[in-house]
Amino acid sequence: MIEEVIKLSPVPVVFVADDKLEPNEGGCYSPGSAQVIPHWPVLHKAVFNFYSWIGVLKEITPYIKISDSLSYHEKTSTLLHEIGHALCWKKNCDCCWKNKKYREIHADEYALNWLLENNLSKSLQKKLLYIKCLSEQNNYHGEAARHTMKTELWIECIRITR
Ligand SMILES: [Zn+2]
Ligand SMILES: [Zn+2]
Repeated sequence: MIEEVIKLSPVPVVFVADDKLEPNEGGCYSPGSAQVIPHWPVLHKAVFNFYSWIGVLKEITPYIKISDSLSYHEKTSTLLHEIGHALCWKKNCDCCWKNKKYREIHADEYALNWLLENNLSKSLQKKLLYIKCLSEQNNYHGEAARHTMKTELWIECIRITR
């Protein structure tokens, strides 16, 4: 099943040892050069597009890193979340230019929808538990999780896994 999920990714996926990730991080999406811009508050999309156009921002390729120490189901659901980020960057979604909370909401929305549509209730269950844990955090991950837990999608996921 994880092979199927890897095929959905618009960017290369690598499985890495935990020391290649931040502590407690199961995976991460690196948007490559695109990541530079949101951290420069004075720069906007038009400036980014201009830099891309003149070729300044083409050197770093985006990719997804997933921890090799995760269980099979955790790998699958983490990978789906990171693919959600990658797809948002690919389609230049608004969340990439808003704050981190919206990026997390979109990534989880993608992961939950995919698990739901493909009837992977075991991975879905893990994902729901993980989001519940995140909802207790006092940061943008927590805010995003609390938002997700109020959606119709969440209710549907709970119903299916019951
Ligand atoms: Zn998005
Ligand atoms: Zn994320």
